[in-house]
Amino acid sequence: MPETYDLHCHSTASDGSLTPDALLRRANEKGVTSLALTDHDTTAGLAGAKQTADAIGIDLIPGIEISTTWNNKCFHIIGLNIDASYLPLVEGLRELRSTRTRRAEKIAAKLEKAGIGNALPTVLQQAGQGMITRTHFASFLLRENHVSTMQEAFDRYLGKGKPAFAATTWVDLAQAVDWINESGGVAVIAHPLRYKLTASWLKRFFKAFREAGGQGIEVVCGRSNADEIHLTGNYARQYELYGSVGSDFHTPENPWIELGRLAPLPKGVRPVWQLFS
Ligand code: AMP
Ligand code: MN
Ligand code: MN
Ligand code: MN
Repeated sequence: MPETYDLHCHSTASDGSLTPDALLRRANEKGVTSLALTDHDTTAGLAGAKQTADAIGIDLIPGIEISTTWNNKCFHIIGLNIDASYLPLVEGLRELRSTRTRRAEKIAAKLEKAGIGNALPTVLQQAGQGMITRTHFASFLLRENHVSTMQEAFDRYLGKGKPAFAATTWVDLAQAVDWINESGGVAVIAHPLRYKLTASWLKRFFKAFREAGGQGIEVVCGRSNADEIHLTGNYARQYELYGSVGSDFHTPENPWIELGRLAPLPKGVRPVWQLFS
């Protein structure tokens, strides 16, 4: 049977709506044979995911999506096939957790100024043990009828330049790539076309990522069209990066993105899973 990979998705350990257990079961139902769970800045979902994966016979790739800073901008770097017990990674993620908590306090204070109170306790409660993300704030704004879609929450309040945006310094790009490599994993640029970079800045970014020791790039994302896949495939070949495929699934409530629903890698792009040992 051919393998079906999905190497990017989220659980309740960060901003996904399914528990690791439910996520693995859904992936299996959708025909995924190898799933990487890649929660934002946490590996807390991996143990539960592994239990289910072993029970139902699906391959779990231990992963993460790390929030990094390069040139004062935020970039998401996926770590695949990592060792989640690698101490510098564990300690680094503890730091990112407090960065996220401090940022949540700032976002809540800004919302308060915009006339929307009580966000923090609600969001903390929703996140539970998981990482607090802007998705939690967006859900809060939606539930309280301040906006009518998640997108509107980002467009009106949470996006860059909007009233409740809190500028944040994440971990340095090269540091995150080191953690991933030293833990035995492969570093992959997540959704490369979502950073709104000009072509020349994108190229500078790819070079910096390569020089830092990064090896992969997401060529196929959940909503990529043929042109985007073609363009990103060319970048992969040009910068000698291995290609990854990942839906970035968060919730069954979003009908546009499903686990495992991904186009194949373009010809000549080496699959990132060749690097998994
Ligand atoms: P954070 O890492 O806390 O800044 O949150 C970023 C998360 O917010 C992303 O991983 C997405 O899941 C979500 N997100 C970002 N922009 C949007 C958007 N326009 N609509 C819906 N969700 C978004
Ligand atoms: Mn997310
Ligand atoms: Mn991301
Ligand atoms: Mn993601």
